[in-house]
Order: sequence, then C-alpha cells, then structure tokens
Amino acid sequence: FALSGCSGSSNDRGGDSAGGDTAASGFKAGSVIGVALPDKTSENWTIAGQIFTDDLEKAGYKANVQYAGSTSPVPDQQAQITAMIQAGAKVIVIGANDAKQLGAQVADAKEQGVSIIAYDRLISDTKDVDYYVAFNNFKVGQDQGQALLDGLAKKFPDQKTYNIELIAGAATDPNATVFFNGAMDVLKPKIDDGTLKVVSGQDTFEKVQTDKWDPANAQSRMDTVLQGFYQGDTNINGVLSPNDTLARAALQSVSDAKKGPIVITGQDSEAASIPLIMSGEQYMTIYKDTRKLVAQTVDMINSLAKGDKADTNAEEDNGATKVPTYYLDPVVVTADNAAEVYKDNDKLAPLTKQ
Ligand code: BGC
Repeated sequence: FALSGCSGSSNDRGGDSAGGDTAASGFKAGSVIGVALPDKTSENWTIAGQIFTDDLEKAGYKANVQYAGSTSPVPDQQAQITAMIQAGAKVIVIGANDAKQLGAQVADAKEQGVSIIAYDRLISDTKDVDYYVAFNNFKVGQDQGQALLDGLAKKFPDQKTYNIELIAGAATDPNATVFFNGAMDVLKPKIDDGTLKVVSGQDTFEKVQTDKWDPANAQSRMDTVLQGFYQGDTNINGVLSPNDTLARAALQSVSDAKKGPIVITGQDSEAASIPLIMSGEQYMTIYKDTRKLVAQTVDMINSLAKGDKADTNAEEDNGATKVPTYYLDPVVVTADNAAEVYKDNDKLAPLTKQ
C-alpha cells in the first residue's frame, strides 16, 4: 500500500481504508488528543479517563479528556467533541454515549482533518470513523451465555431444567445488542429445547434492555418480574446480566424477593463485584483490562502521528461502512481463576485474597 493511495476520495473507505487518509499527514509531538467518554455509570469508564490522561501525556501529547454528564449526556458529548475540534485536536477518541447521535460532529471533525477512533463502542451509521478499538463484544456475550449454562449445571446438579431471566444493556449502546446476541447464540438452542425456561416470557432485546445502563432500571424491572411470575414455590435459578453493575442490582432484587440462590453473569471486573465472585454469589465476570485497551488506542495514535496506518485485525460494519478494527480478547473470570487473572492488577488482586 503506497502513500499515494491516500490521495483518493476522502469518502472512499474501501481497500485503502480510512486510516490511509490520515496516513498522509501525520502530526507533531505535543499535539492535542481529545478523549470523549460517555458517562461514569461503570467503573471501566472512570479508570479509562485516568489512564488516558497519564498515557497520552507520557507519550508526549496534550490530553483533553471529557465525560458527558448524567442529565443531558448527548448534547454534552456533542459539545465536547466540537470544542475538541476547535482546540485543534489531531485525533478524537470517542466512547459514544448514544452511538447514533454523533454523525454531525464526526463529519465536522473529518472535514477539519481530525481522525476519529471509536473506543469500546462503535459509532453507528457514518463513514467518518477511521478506526474502532474494543474487546470482542460478541465473544463477551457468548462467554456470558456459556458461563450461565456451566454455572447452572454446577450449582444445580440434580436439575435438568432451569428457570432464568435475561437482562440487556442500553439500546443507545450498540454493544448492548451485540452482548445480547452473543449470549443468545449460546442460550437460544437451550431455550428452544426446554432446558432453559424464561419464566416471564421476556426474551427479546427490546423487552429486556436497560435504559441508560442504569442499575435502578434493571432492579425495578426484576422486582416486577419476580412479583409477577415467581409467586409461591416458583424459584429463579439464573440471570443473564450483561455487566457487573446490573448484576449487583439483580442480586439485590432476588434477595429482596427472598428467592435464589442464583447463577448470574457479569462483565467489567468491577472492584465491588470481586468479593461476590470469590464468594460465588456472582458466578462470573469478564476482564477487559482497561490498561490494555488504552495502550492499544495510544498505539494507534502513535501510528497516525508518524503518518502510518494503525494496526487492525478485524473490520466492523457500522451500518454505513466497514470500520478497520482492532479487537482484544476478553477473559472469563470465576472464583476458580480470579487470583491468577488479576495477579498483576494492584487494585483487584488483593480482593481475591479476602
Ligand atoms: C461497555 C461495558 C460497560 C457498559 C456500561 C459497554 O459499552 O462495553 O464494559 O459495562 O458499556 O457502561
């Protein structure tokens, strides 16, 4: 691939991918790099902001890290991205709050020669995304589905069928559908053959999604489901939860309803969930080491700064184009391997020893 290939139409994302457009230019040490993060509902976002600030400064850039607020996250994030463009950012890294509401901002960025890297969450329906970097979300969902099956078989060896409920994340986050579809890829055959019974009958993404990924919303839906469908002797054996925040909310609901014990899945390896993993209250979580995801993103930025294309190992369709993507592998964690998986994580390792 020759640099001359970059002089083609800036809308052409085929063959010489979007990164090629940026490749011709490059930029200097000390340039501003914007990082627009969606909110602080999950610990991973808070940690990402800190690591981005440190690692970008260490790599010689000026970091401009912003979070959308909780009351009006979409206009907040739009305004933050616009401000980053005005501040002369060379690259803007975006964890979208609402993946469908950033089209105008990224189009503006591209016009000004700013590269866009979608971080953890893909931005939908626009050609103006240069790269996507994330842990493989479909794999996360499949791992959650498989862990739910394994956990149920282990915890209830005498049962042949299991009562379960499903929880998904926010519809504004494309990851939420991918997690759900990955899990259903594994669970659906077991629902169809009667091994798993979704007692409430709520088994589509639309019915089980959680507005804003807000644990209060998941908890109140679970309260209603347990009151409505788990009267008397009917017990609940398992819950598919897409992340740790929502898993803790569902556990609270099950405990309030005096039901369970259950097998429940999670994601993110949040500090508050590790003791629950160790005690077996939460069967599994996923480790997506934020340090690695940020490091991969900074690697991409370094390549762009040199005028090179960034490394990718996949392509992801965002509805408008195939975005060059770098996927990292998520790690499944249960009480059995937590100490080993977190051994080099100063915050999590001690929590596996209590
Ligand atoms: C992230 C998850 C996180 C969720 C809620 C998703 O896009 O991939 O790690 O739990 O958002 O913040």
